[in-house]
Amino acid sequence: MRVLVTGGCGFIGSHFVKRLVSAGDAVVVLDLLTYAGNPVNLAGVPHDFVHGDVADAETVRAAAEGCDAVVNFAAETHVDRSILGGGEFVHTNVAGTQVLLEWVRRAGVRFVQVSTDEVYGDVPQGASSESDPLRPSSPYAASKASADLLVLAYLRTFGIDASITRGSNAYGPFQYPEKLVPLFITNALEGRPLPVYGDGRQRRTWAYVEDQCAAINLVLRNGRAGEIYNVGGDERENLELSRLILDLTGSSPDLVEHVEDRPGHDRRYRVDSSRIESLGWSPAASLEEGLDRTVDWYRERRDWWAPLKAGEAAA
Ligand code: NAD
Repeated sequence: MRVLVTGGCGFIGSHFVKRLVSAGDAVVVLDLLTYAGNPVNLAGVPHDFVHGDVADAETVRAAAEGCDAVVNFAAETHVDRSILGGGEFVHTNVAGTQVLLEWVRRAGVRFVQVSTDEVYGDVPQGASSESDPLRPSSPYAASKASADLLVLAYLRTFGIDASITRGSNAYGPFQYPEKLVPLFITNALEGRPLPVYGDGRQRRTWAYVEDQCAAINLVLRNGRAGEIYNVGGDERENLELSRLILDLTGSSPDLVEHVEDRPGHDRRYRVDSSRIESLGWSPAASLEEGLDRTVDWYRERRDWWAPLKAGEAAA
């Protein structure tokens, strides 16, 4: 296949591109190269590259022409940034998805929308199934939920060949050090405090990035049109995860620093993954294994993350 991967220079997208290329697929990456997009993430990986905005129809046409499928990772992804200002989130995550949908409708190619478990909002008990109502809490989650609704509308109205994945929190190499896992690992490696929101008792499920990519790839190839697939992981309290990171980096437990909670912060997410499991997916890495690999990578790749953190500090 020749696949257009939008946001392919970001965290999950770059792992996904490597997976496709090593399986023999041809890949076109369309990426705006925002602060979160880094061409270094694809160094040495053969692909065609289009620099541009996923919300621009002409750019999308130029990138997508000749592709058999489109997988949409392009997004503004940081919840805290969406609380400071949601405009770019609506532009890229909502308008960008609509532009892609127009392309796949006209070109008649397969489309996978990479969404998130955050669209369900707080799940105090049990696990969200794909038919549960969308109750997003942050502007980020609301923009992703809006994009999901657009995909569903295009499915119904135009009968496009599209599926949606709703992944839980991903972690692994090449994740921008504003997100919890890489922020905490790099802070620990620098002997700096780990800023834990509120009481730290929020619960999330965590999936190693390669497991998330395996799920998205499976949906691309074997997923049913019109179907949504949750992708779960290992559930942990944020405080527990922080302690695990401190342990793996050989740091003092005293580095945990409770800071003011994020407004609207959901207490718990958990999804039921039985639908994607029935396609044959199961996670290969436990949280402990995945974190161990991730900590090793951040230990070795200070050249990758230190300039990004220095840039954030100077901004
Ligand atoms: P990321 O922030 O690391 O990367 C996003 C990429 O999109 C960057 O390369 C950026 O340059 C690009 N981009 C941003 N705006 C663009 C635009 N207007 N046009 C073209 N490219 C643009 O994101 P990530 O963590 O890899 O997440 C990828 C996708 O997976 C997102 O859609 C996100 O909602 C979803 N997701 C992420 C997680 C997670 O834990 N990271 C979990 C579930 C779902």
